[in-house]
Amino acid sequence: MKTHNFSAGPAVLPQVAIENTAKAILDLNGIGLSLIEISHRSKDFQAVIDEAVALMKELLGLPEGYHVLFLGGGASTQFATIPMNFLKTKAAYLETGVWAKKAAKESKGFGETVIVASSADKNFNYIPKNYVVPSDADYFHITTNNTIYGTEIRTDIDSSVPLIADMSSDFLSRPTDISKYVMVYGGAQKNIGPAGATFVIIKEDFMNNIANRHIPTMFKYATHTAEGSMFNTPPVMPIFTIKETLKWLKSLGGLKAIEKMNIEKANILYDAIDSSRIFMGTAELDSRSLMNICFVMKPEYAEKEEAFMSFSKSKGMSGIKGHRSVGGFRASTYNALPKESVMALVDCMKEFERTV
Ligand SMILES: *Cc1c(COP(=O)(O)O)cnc(C)c1O
Repeated sequence: MKTHNFSAGPAVLPQVAIENTAKAILDLNGIGLSLIEISHRSKDFQAVIDEAVALMKELLGLPEGYHVLFLGGGASTQFATIPMNFLKTKAAYLETGVWAKKAAKESKGFGETVIVASSADKNFNYIPKNYVVPSDADYFHITTNNTIYGTEIRTDIDSSVPLIADMSSDFLSRPTDISKYVMVYGGAQKNIGPAGATFVIIKEDFMNNIANRHIPTMFKYATHTAEGSMFNTPPVMPIFTIKETLKWLKSLGGLKAIEKMNIEKANILYDAIDSSRIFMGTAELDSRSLMNICFVMKPEYAEKEEAFMSFSKSKGMSGIKGHRSVGGFRASTYNALPKESVMALVDCMKEFERTV
Protein backbone atom coordinates (compact mmCIF):
# COMPACT_ATOMS: atom_id res chain seq x y z
CA MET A 1 0.00 0.00 0.00
CA LYS A 2 1.23 3.50 -0.80
CA THR A 3 1.85 5.81 2.14
CA HIS A 4 0.55 9.33 1.61
CA ASN A 5 2.75 11.86 3.38
CA PHE A 6 0.81 14.82 4.83
CA SER A 7 3.51 15.70 7.36
CA ALA A 8 3.74 19.39 8.34
CA GLY A 9 7.53 19.34 8.39
CA PRO A 10 9.99 17.90 7.70
CA ALA A 11 7.73 17.03 4.83
CA VAL A 12 7.24 15.37 1.49
CA LEU A 13 9.88 16.07 -1.18
CA PRO A 14 9.97 15.21 -4.88
CA GLN A 15 11.01 11.57 -5.33
CA VAL A 16 13.57 12.59 -7.96
CA ALA A 17 15.24 15.00 -5.48
CA ILE A 18 15.53 12.24 -2.89
CA GLU A 19 16.90 9.75 -5.41
CA ASN A 20 19.47 12.17 -6.79
CA THR A 21 20.56 13.08 -3.25
CA ALA A 22 20.99 9.39 -2.44
CA LYS A 23 23.16 8.99 -5.55
CA ALA A 24 25.26 12.05 -4.69
CA ILE A 25 25.78 10.77 -1.16
CA LEU A 26 27.22 7.56 -2.64
CA ASP A 27 29.21 9.26 -5.40
CA LEU A 28 29.02 12.90 -6.47
CA ASN A 29 29.35 13.44 -10.24
CA GLY A 30 31.34 10.20 -10.60
CA ILE A 31 34.33 11.66 -8.70
CA GLY A 32 34.52 8.59 -6.44
CA LEU A 33 33.72 10.63 -3.32
CA SER A 34 30.53 11.36 -1.45
CA LEU A 35 28.82 14.75 -1.42
CA ILE A 36 29.23 14.65 2.37
CA GLU A 37 32.98 13.92 2.44
CA ILE A 38 34.37 16.65 0.20
CA SER A 39 35.33 20.23 0.98
CA HIS A 40 32.57 22.78 0.78
CA ARG A 41 35.17 24.88 -1.08
CA SER A 42 35.76 22.23 -3.74
CA LYS A 43 34.68 23.09 -7.26
CA ASP A 44 32.14 20.25 -7.20
CA PHE A 45 30.32 21.69 -4.20
CA GLN A 46 30.72 25.29 -5.38
CA ALA A 47 28.86 24.24 -8.53
CA VAL A 48 26.04 22.83 -6.38
CA ILE A 49 25.46 26.01 -4.36
CA ASP A 50 25.90 28.23 -7.43
CA GLU A 51 23.21 26.27 -9.24
CA ALA A 52 20.88 26.42 -6.21
CA VAL A 53 21.25 30.21 -6.04
CA ALA A 54 20.83 30.62 -9.81
CA LEU A 55 17.67 28.47 -9.84
CA MET A 56 16.22 30.40 -6.91
CA LYS A 57 16.81 33.70 -8.75
CA GLU A 58 15.33 32.32 -11.95
CA LEU A 59 12.23 30.81 -10.35
CA LEU A 60 11.45 33.96 -8.37
CA GLY A 61 12.47 36.36 -11.12
CA LEU A 62 14.54 37.98 -8.39
CA PRO A 63 15.30 41.66 -9.03
CA GLU A 64 18.88 42.97 -8.90
CA GLY A 65 20.18 43.93 -5.48
CA TYR A 66 19.12 40.85 -3.50
CA HIS A 67 21.30 38.12 -1.99
CA VAL A 68 20.28 34.48 -1.70
CA LEU A 69 21.79 32.73 1.32
CA PHE A 70 21.69 29.21 2.72
CA LEU A 71 22.54 29.21 6.41
CA GLY A 72 22.21 26.99 9.47
CA GLY A 73 20.10 27.55 12.56
CA GLY A 74 16.58 27.28 11.18
CA ALA A 75 13.95 29.99 10.97
CA SER A 76 14.11 30.20 14.77
CA THR A 77 17.62 31.68 14.67
CA GLN A 78 16.37 34.32 12.23
CA PHE A 79 13.73 35.34 14.80
CA ALA A 80 16.67 36.68 16.88
CA THR A 81 19.12 37.81 14.20
CA ILE A 82 16.53 40.03 12.47
CA PRO A 83 16.01 42.37 15.47
CA MET A 84 19.68 42.00 16.46
CA ASN A 85 20.70 43.45 13.10
CA PHE A 86 17.83 45.79 12.25
CA LEU A 87 15.90 46.94 15.31
CA LYS A 88 16.99 50.50 16.05
CA THR A 89 13.86 52.46 17.06
CA LYS A 90 11.06 49.93 17.07
CA ALA A 91 9.85 46.89 15.20
CA ALA A 92 6.30 45.96 14.17
CA TYR A 93 4.91 42.41 14.13
CA LEU A 94 1.66 40.87 12.92
CA GLU A 95 0.68 38.17 15.41
CA THR A 96 -0.94 35.38 13.41
CA GLY A 97 0.17 32.29 15.31
CA VAL A 98 2.72 30.58 17.48
CA TRP A 99 5.64 31.15 15.08
CA ALA A 100 4.76 34.84 14.71
CA LYS A 101 4.64 35.13 18.51
CA LYS A 102 8.00 33.47 18.85
CA ALA A 103 9.48 35.91 16.34
CA ALA A 104 8.03 38.90 18.24
CA LYS A 105 9.27 37.52 21.57
CA GLU A 106 12.88 37.59 20.32
CA SER A 107 12.39 41.14 19.08
CA LYS A 108 11.31 42.29 22.55
CA GLY A 109 14.76 41.34 23.82
CA PHE A 110 16.31 43.97 21.54
CA GLY A 111 13.91 46.91 21.78
CA GLU A 112 10.41 48.28 21.42
CA THR A 113 8.17 45.80 19.66
CA VAL A 114 4.68 46.76 18.51
CA ILE A 115 2.11 44.04 17.85
CA VAL A 116 0.03 45.81 15.19
CA ALA A 117 -2.76 43.21 15.27
CA SER A 118 -3.39 39.72 16.55
CA SER A 119 -5.80 36.92 15.79
CA ALA A 120 -5.20 35.28 19.17
CA ASP A 121 -8.81 36.10 20.15
CA LYS A 122 -10.03 33.31 17.83
CA ASN A 123 -7.16 30.87 18.25
CA PHE A 124 -5.46 32.36 15.16
CA ASN A 125 -8.08 31.11 12.71
CA TYR A 126 -7.95 34.27 10.56
CA ILE A 127 -5.56 36.89 9.20
CA PRO A 128 -6.23 40.33 10.76
CA LYS A 129 -7.05 43.22 8.42
CA ASN A 130 -7.16 47.00 8.83
CA TYR A 131 -4.22 47.42 11.15
CA VAL A 132 -1.84 50.38 11.25
CA VAL A 133 1.91 49.92 11.13
CA PRO A 134 3.82 52.74 12.90
CA SER A 135 5.57 54.82 10.24
CA ASP A 136 8.75 54.99 12.33
CA ALA A 137 9.10 51.20 12.62
CA ASP A 138 12.41 49.87 11.32
CA TYR A 139 10.59 46.96 9.74
CA PHE A 140 7.27 45.13 9.71
CA HIS A 141 7.42 41.36 10.22
CA ILE A 142 4.75 38.98 8.93
CA THR A 143 4.38 35.20 8.78
CA THR A 144 2.90 34.45 5.36
CA ASN A 145 1.69 30.95 6.21
CA ASN A 146 0.68 29.87 9.68
CA THR A 147 1.61 26.21 9.56
CA ILE A 148 -0.18 25.24 12.76
CA TYR A 149 -3.51 27.03 12.12
CA GLY A 150 -3.80 26.72 8.35
CA THR A 151 -4.10 30.40 7.53
CA GLU A 152 -2.14 32.21 4.85
CA ILE A 153 -1.43 35.69 3.49
CA ARG A 154 -1.51 34.76 -0.17
CA THR A 155 -0.77 38.13 -1.69
CA ASP A 156 2.35 40.25 -1.42
CA ILE A 157 1.05 43.09 0.73
CA ASP A 158 2.03 46.73 0.34
CA SER A 159 3.89 48.07 3.33
CA SER A 160 5.07 51.62 3.95
CA VAL A 161 7.90 50.36 6.16
CA PRO A 162 10.41 47.65 5.11
CA LEU A 163 8.62 44.31 5.00
CA ILE A 164 10.18 41.08 6.32
CA ALA A 165 8.41 37.73 5.94
CA ASP A 166 8.83 34.34 7.52
CA MET A 167 7.88 32.17 4.53
CA SER A 168 8.94 28.88 6.08
CA SER A 169 5.88 26.96 5.00
CA ASP A 170 4.75 28.56 1.74
CA PHE A 171 7.96 29.70 0.08
CA LEU A 172 7.98 28.88 -3.66
CA SER A 173 4.34 27.76 -3.59
CA ARG A 174 3.24 30.69 -5.77
CA PRO A 175 4.76 33.53 -7.82
CA THR A 176 6.06 36.08 -5.31
CA ASP A 177 6.98 39.72 -5.88
CA ILE A 178 10.16 39.83 -3.81
CA SER A 179 10.58 43.55 -4.59
CA LYS A 180 7.87 44.19 -1.95
CA TYR A 181 10.08 42.69 0.76
CA VAL A 182 13.48 43.60 2.14
CA MET A 183 13.91 40.08 3.43
CA VAL A 184 12.19 36.70 3.23
CA TYR A 185 13.43 33.66 5.08
CA GLY A 186 12.48 30.27 6.43
CA GLY A 187 13.51 26.77 7.32
CA ALA A 188 13.87 24.63 4.20
CA GLN A 189 12.13 21.61 5.70
CA LYS A 190 8.52 22.52 4.93
CA ASN A 191 8.46 23.13 1.22
CA ILE A 192 11.90 23.24 -0.42
CA GLY A 193 14.25 20.70 1.11
CA PRO A 194 15.44 18.79 4.17
CA ALA A 195 15.93 20.19 7.66
CA GLY A 196 19.30 21.81 8.26
CA ALA A 197 19.27 24.67 5.76
CA THR A 198 17.68 28.08 6.25
CA PHE A 199 17.02 30.21 3.19
CA VAL A 200 17.42 33.96 3.44
CA ILE A 201 16.78 36.43 0.63
CA ILE A 202 17.88 39.88 1.68
CA LYS A 203 18.06 43.24 -0.06
CA GLU A 204 21.52 44.74 -0.22
CA ASP A 205 20.31 48.32 0.46
CA PHE A 206 18.41 47.29 3.58
CA MET A 207 21.57 45.82 5.09
CA ASN A 208 22.93 49.37 5.47
CA ASN A 209 20.31 49.92 8.20
CA ILE A 210 22.32 47.91 10.68
CA ALA A 211 21.76 48.68 14.37
CA ASN A 212 24.52 50.15 16.46
CA ARG A 213 25.10 47.28 18.87
CA HIS A 214 27.61 44.49 19.14
CA ILE A 215 26.60 41.70 16.76
CA PRO A 216 28.68 38.50 16.74
CA THR A 217 30.26 37.85 13.35
CA MET A 218 28.16 34.75 12.63
CA PHE A 219 24.93 36.67 13.28
CA LYS A 220 25.63 39.54 10.86
CA TYR A 221 23.96 39.19 7.49
CA ALA A 222 26.86 41.08 5.88
CA THR A 223 29.23 38.30 6.98
CA HIS A 224 27.31 35.79 4.92
CA THR A 225 26.48 37.94 1.90
CA ALA A 226 30.17 38.84 1.56
CA GLU A 227 31.12 35.16 1.44
CA GLY A 228 28.24 33.69 -0.59
CA SER A 229 27.01 31.58 2.36
CA MET A 230 30.58 30.24 2.72
CA PHE A 231 31.86 32.18 5.74
CA ASN A 232 31.69 28.87 7.57
CA THR A 233 30.68 25.40 6.43
CA PRO A 234 27.15 25.59 5.06
CA PRO A 235 24.68 22.66 5.31
CA VAL A 236 26.02 20.91 2.21
CA MET A 237 23.66 17.95 1.95
CA PRO A 238 20.42 19.97 2.42
CA ILE A 239 21.66 22.52 -0.14
CA PHE A 240 22.12 19.71 -2.66
CA THR A 241 18.55 18.49 -2.10
CA ILE A 242 17.22 22.05 -2.37
CA LYS A 243 19.02 22.39 -5.71
CA GLU A 244 17.38 19.17 -6.91
CA THR A 245 13.97 20.33 -5.67
CA LEU A 246 14.35 23.64 -7.50
CA LYS A 247 15.29 21.77 -10.70
CA TRP A 248 12.12 19.72 -10.31
CA LEU A 249 10.05 22.90 -9.79
CA LYS A 250 11.52 24.41 -12.93
CA SER A 251 10.79 21.25 -14.92
CA LEU A 252 7.13 21.49 -13.89
CA GLY A 253 6.92 25.01 -15.30
CA GLY A 254 7.95 27.13 -12.31
CA LEU A 255 5.92 29.00 -9.72
CA LYS A 256 2.85 29.78 -11.85
CA ALA A 257 2.47 26.10 -12.67
CA ILE A 258 2.97 24.93 -9.09
CA GLU A 259 0.50 27.52 -7.80
CA LYS A 260 -2.12 26.16 -10.17
CA MET A 261 -1.48 22.64 -8.92
CA ASN A 262 -1.54 23.78 -5.28
CA ILE A 263 -4.88 25.56 -5.78
CA GLU A 264 -6.33 22.48 -7.44
CA LYS A 265 -5.18 20.16 -4.63
CA ALA A 266 -6.42 22.48 -1.87
CA ASN A 267 -9.79 22.96 -3.59
CA ILE A 268 -10.35 19.21 -3.79
CA LEU A 269 -9.79 18.84 -0.05
CA TYR A 270 -11.62 22.00 1.05
CA ASP A 271 -14.61 21.01 -1.11
CA ALA A 272 -14.69 17.61 0.56
CA ILE A 273 -14.53 19.20 4.02
CA ASP A 274 -17.21 21.80 3.24
CA SER A 275 -19.61 19.25 1.79
CA SER A 276 -19.10 16.76 4.62
CA ARG A 277 -21.74 15.85 7.20
CA ILE A 278 -19.13 15.05 9.87
CA PHE A 279 -16.02 17.18 9.17
CA MET A 280 -15.61 20.95 9.19
CA GLY A 281 -12.75 23.37 8.51
CA THR A 282 -11.23 25.52 11.27
CA ALA A 283 -9.83 28.55 9.40
CA GLU A 284 -12.02 31.41 8.19
CA LEU A 285 -12.78 31.08 4.48
CA ASP A 286 -10.87 34.15 3.29
CA SER A 287 -7.79 33.20 5.33
CA ARG A 288 -7.46 29.56 4.31
CA SER A 289 -4.01 28.21 3.53
CA LEU A 290 -3.16 26.25 0.41
CA MET A 291 -0.37 24.50 2.29
CA ASN A 292 -1.83 23.31 5.61
CA ILE A 293 -5.48 22.32 5.62
CA CYS A 294 -6.92 22.06 9.14
CA PHE A 295 -10.20 20.34 9.89
CA VAL A 296 -11.99 18.78 12.84
CA MET A 297 -15.00 16.59 13.51
CA LYS A 298 -18.23 18.57 13.89
CA PRO A 299 -19.09 18.78 17.62
CA GLU A 300 -21.80 16.12 17.37
CA TYR A 301 -19.25 13.64 15.95
CA ALA A 302 -16.35 14.65 18.21
CA GLU A 303 -16.05 11.21 19.75
CA LYS A 304 -15.27 9.75 16.29
CA GLU A 305 -11.92 11.51 16.08
CA GLU A 306 -9.82 8.61 17.31
CA ALA A 307 -11.69 6.20 15.05
CA PHE A 308 -10.95 8.36 11.99
CA MET A 309 -7.29 8.64 12.97
CA SER A 310 -6.88 4.87 13.00
CA PHE A 311 -9.07 4.34 9.93
CA SER A 312 -7.02 6.85 7.93
CA LYS A 313 -3.82 5.19 9.09
CA SER A 314 -5.10 1.84 7.85
CA LYS A 315 -5.64 3.50 4.45
CA GLY A 316 -2.04 4.73 4.26
CA MET A 317 -2.52 8.33 5.44
CA SER A 318 0.50 9.58 7.40
CA GLY A 319 0.99 12.83 9.31
CA ILE A 320 -2.60 14.08 9.41
CA LYS A 321 -2.88 14.52 13.17
CA GLY A 322 -3.61 18.19 13.92
CA HIS A 323 -1.23 20.26 16.03
CA ARG A 324 -2.19 20.10 19.71
CA SER A 325 -3.16 23.79 19.74
CA VAL A 326 -5.91 23.20 17.13
CA GLY A 327 -6.69 19.51 17.54
CA GLY A 328 -8.41 17.41 14.91
CA PHE A 329 -6.56 16.95 11.65
CA ARG A 330 -4.11 18.81 9.46
CA ALA A 331 -3.25 17.75 5.94
CA SER A 332 -0.16 19.53 4.68
CA THR A 333 -0.36 19.84 0.92
CA TYR A 334 3.07 21.20 0.06
CA ASN A 335 4.42 21.47 -3.49
CA ALA A 336 5.67 17.87 -3.66
CA LEU A 337 2.46 16.26 -2.39
CA PRO A 338 0.88 14.51 -5.39
CA LYS A 339 -2.74 15.21 -6.25
CA GLU A 340 -3.40 11.47 -5.98
CA SER A 341 -2.60 11.67 -2.25
CA VAL A 342 -5.26 14.36 -1.78
CA MET A 343 -7.77 12.25 -3.71
CA ALA A 344 -6.88 9.23 -1.58
CA LEU A 345 -7.50 11.25 1.59
CA VAL A 346 -10.85 12.49 0.26
CA ASP A 347 -11.88 8.91 -0.59
CA CYS A 348 -10.85 7.84 2.89
CA MET A 349 -12.92 10.63 4.52
CA LYS A 350 -15.96 9.71 2.42
CA GLU A 351 -15.62 6.03 3.16
CA PHE A 352 -15.38 6.76 6.87
CA GLU A 353 -18.37 9.10 6.73
CA ARG A 354 -20.54 6.30 5.34
CA THR A 355 -19.82 4.24 8.47
CA VAL A 356 -21.00 6.85 11.00
C1 LIG B 1 8.36 25.39 11.19
C2 LIG B 1 8.30 26.87 11.22
C3 LIG B 1 9.26 27.66 11.88
C4 LIG B 1 10.41 27.04 12.64
O1 LIG B 1 11.41 26.64 11.78
P1 LIG B 1 12.78 26.02 12.31
O2 LIG B 1 13.56 25.91 11.03
O3 LIG B 1 12.47 24.70 12.95
O4 LIG B 1 13.39 26.97 13.28
C5 LIG B 1 9.15 29.02 11.81
N1 LIG B 1 8.13 29.61 11.16
C6 LIG B 1 7.17 28.89 10.54
C7 LIG B 1 6.06 29.60 9.83
C8 LIG B 1 7.22 27.51 10.56
O5 LIG B 1 6.27 26.79 9.93
